[in-house]
Amino acid sequence: MNYCSECGTKLVMKEKEHEGAHSYCMHCQAYRFPVFYTAVSMIVRNPDHTKILLIQQYGSPHNILVAGYVDKKEQLEEAVIREVKEEIGLSVTELSYNKSEYFPKANTLICNFICTAESEDLRGVSDWEVDKAQWFSEEEILRVVKPNSLAKRFLEAYLHTKKNTDSVS
Ligand SMILES: [Zn+2]
Repeated sequence: MNYCSECGTKLVMKEKEHEGAHSYCMHCQAYRFPVFYTAVSMIVRNPDHTKILLIQQYGSPHNILVAGYVDKKEQLEEAVIREVKEEIGLSVTELSYNKSEYFPKANTLICNFICTAESEDLRGVSDWEVDKAQWFSEEEILRVVKPNSLAKRFLEAYLHTKKNTDSVS
């Protein structure tokens, strides 16, 4: 970050008490921290947790996770519920955090959550935001999800944790 996100002045490095040097705007007389977008992505499970929902969007043939940008002043959890409702038409519960990854191409921090849909009913899927929505079993999910994608890495982390938890209980 080289310029102030508020006024455009070139930033300088200034000592911040007990914290070392930070970017500082002499004009605003304020420290400036990195600016980026925030999005949520969701591993939506069916009610008995045996299947996961993948979608296709914008004419692409790849299966990905439901995702969307977080609004200003919105909590991550609220964005998860809102986006699944908007795109799939389903209410979700049992939200839990899975993993996050920064996506440089879109300057976006993507926070992945696990949640459970109220049903497997896909009749309410948005026909302008989603081309296709489909449930897949855990056995087939890594084969059908977009290769080398964020979605795939989030799913691998989820399945890895789930396997370890299941074998303990
Ligand atoms: Zn400034």
